[in-house]
Amino acid sequence: MDMNIARICGDGIGPEITAAASGVLGAIALKYGHSITYHDILMGGCSIDRYGVPLTEEAVRTAKSCGAVLMGSIGGDPAVSPWYQLPPDKRPEAGLLAIRRELGLYANLRPAYLFPELAASCPLAARDGKPRSFDLIIVRELTGGLYFGARRTETVNGVLTATDTAVYNENEIRRIMKSAFEIARRRRKKVTSVDKANVLDTSRLWRKIAAAQAADYPDVRFENILVDNCAMQLVREPEQFDVIVTENMFGDILSDEASMITGSIGMLPSASLGEGSFGLYEPSHGSAPDIAGKNIANPIATILSAAMLLRYSFGLQREADAVEHAVRSVLTDGLRTADLLPKDPEEAKKCRPVTCSEMGEQIAARI
Ligand code: NAD
Repeated sequence: MDMNIARICGDGIGPEITAAASGVLGAIALKYGHSITYHDILMGGCSIDRYGVPLTEEAVRTAKSCGAVLMGSIGGDPAVSPWYQLPPDKRPEAGLLAIRRELGLYANLRPAYLFPELAASCPLAARDGKPRSFDLIIVRELTGGLYFGARRTETVNGVLTATDTAVYNENEIRRIMKSAFEIARRRRKKVTSVDKANVLDTSRLWRKIAAAQAADYPDVRFENILVDNCAMQLVREPEQFDVIVTENMFGDILSDEASMITGSIGMLPSASLGEGSFGLYEPSHGSAPDIAGKNIANPIATILSAAMLLRYSFGLQREADAVEHAVRSVLTDGLRTADLLPKDPEEAKKCRPVTCSEMGEQIAARI
């Protein structure tokens, strides 16, 4: 297969982790007889530096002409980076919101899976004397809600006042619910819909549409849960969840929480999908400016995102499995980037510390 992939290396650790993922995809292409053409585009801070805007129309056109987008991460340290002196709609993150909108990416899939090899890194206590073991996926609505509603800051009766607006229509809710139920059918057949229906009108509509969709999927178990309870249940008993579906802001927060219980945010991939097979694949974490340029970042989240790219955008199940097996194999062999090293010195002695590039090379070598 000839694959055209738009590649956004981005800022901070973005270029390091994207290089590692590209090496793994190269190994896949070699082994299975595919060809990959990368179309590199700038987004985020590096695009501001070059073009004065976080995303150009040309970059969007290039992305649209490809079968998928592989992305590192964008953004800098807001406390020191000059990018954050710019108005909000000109900052690096505006590029991300714009590309999601331009590409019609409304479903963000974030799996949170605890690799057995990393069970000791899970901050949750063992359960009944056994290491924790969970495998859930958060399906986050990506183009509506509070992040996209009208916002303003004004002075009302002499008091500085800010307003954000959360808007959802039934069509937006229906399509994300459909995505969640379809995914659940291929997994353990359980959907948990998360809202704040005791307070918000958007959540009450969310719940009504969710119930209607659930009726179309009698083979899938369905439940509603309030977002505050969900946050608690994720650290109490993550094993109870299979597919969690929720709106934009709740999904943003819950997916970071879910990522940390897997041991490191550096392990978690994500896919943003629209209609059809097109998707944007990126790690769940940010650009980690604190460790950028040191070759110590964990590239596994980006490598697992590349596996999702193979599976969802190009239908290459066998190749995606090969990437995931290779990741599992390096972990079994004790290779660990700095974020994965156990705190216990005795446990740490059993591991082999590796750099970002070495981790990428080792995974590629195991394909
Ligand atoms: P972050 O995820 O970049 O970093 C949080 C912490 O996790 C840091 O200590 C960092 O060193 C560590 N970390 C993150 N990824 C890691 C990896 N692969 N390996 C090892 N350690 C890792 O979050 P932040 O510090 O809140 O944000 C930094 C910048 O990233 C900001 O500009 C933010 O807007 C941006 N951001 C971008 C995206 C994206 O590109 N999709 C997502 C979130 C944040």
